Amino acid sequence: MAIESTMTEPKIEVAALRKRFGDLEVLKDINLTVEAGGVVALIGPSGSGKSTLLRCMNLLVAPDGGRVRVGADSFDFGNSGQLPPAKTLARFRANTGMVFQHFNLFPHMSVLANVMEGPLTVRRMPKAQAEPLARSLLVKVGLADKADAYPNKLSGGQKQRVAIARALAMEPEVMLFDEATSALDPELVGEVLQVMRALAAEGMTMVIVTHEIAFAREVADRVVFMRDGVVVEEGPARAVIDTPREEATRAFLSHFH
Ligand code: ADP
Ligand code: MG
Repeated sequence: MAIESTMTEPKIEVAALRKRFGDLEVLKDINLTVEAGGVVALIGPSGSGKSTLLRCMNLLVAPDGGRVRVGADSFDFGNSGQLPPAKTLARFRANTGMVFQHFNLFPHMSVLANVMEGPLTVRRMPKAQAEPLARSLLVKVGLADKADAYPNKLSGGQKQRVAIARALAMEPEVMLFDEATSALDPELVGEVLQVMRALAAEGMTMVIVTHEIAFAREVADRVVFMRDGVVVEEGPARAVIDTPREEATRAFLSHFH
């Protein structure tokens, strides 16, 4: 096997990825790479396969074929559609933090316990180590004072920031955001985008599915436009958003002006 340089290879690599649900081909030969520290915004109409692509990238969904690599963990699905063994899968998912539109916090646990849960159970970290880690992440997302609160006492924006802290507690190499602000009241969107912006500035490798086009233009290095399970256009964020090459991209972006 060839020895590859870890200095220059992309942090995330998706190659020839395919996924179908019954007769519906949701992902048709998707290729995508993200450099270490890169931020890619994934945009496109509803139903174009954005969520399925993210779910395949952290193996929540088993691709029907192709390859997914995040950091040193690589899976070639060939034509099998088989997920790797549970232990490998858990490690892969922990390394690939995911934040959803709906926060999925554990309602019966405090904010601090929510953030500590992954390190304690998946990483088997001692409590004496997990607690300071969780507290430092709550500081990072601006919620140090909410450590003992329960999720039902938080606003949507606060819940989503806890969800981000919870994903970060696994110390992932990459973060995937699936419409993290879409379920929020408009006045709460900014505080979540601010946390995402800070993560990007720190050098986190991120893939962000978003309808916040101005945010994508500002924070992402690259924009990928998907429609009907294919990547229609991709390039530097400002170029794609300001001067799209493809008619389909122009048509989609015209809804946001
Ligand atoms: P997007 O996130 O871009 O809106 P999705 O990836 O959620 O798109 O969905 C792409 C297509 O796949 C849609 O037509 C959706 O209905 C379909 N789909 C997604 N998940 C499933 C599933 N688990 N079973 C069947 N169809 C699905
Ligand atoms: Mg979606």
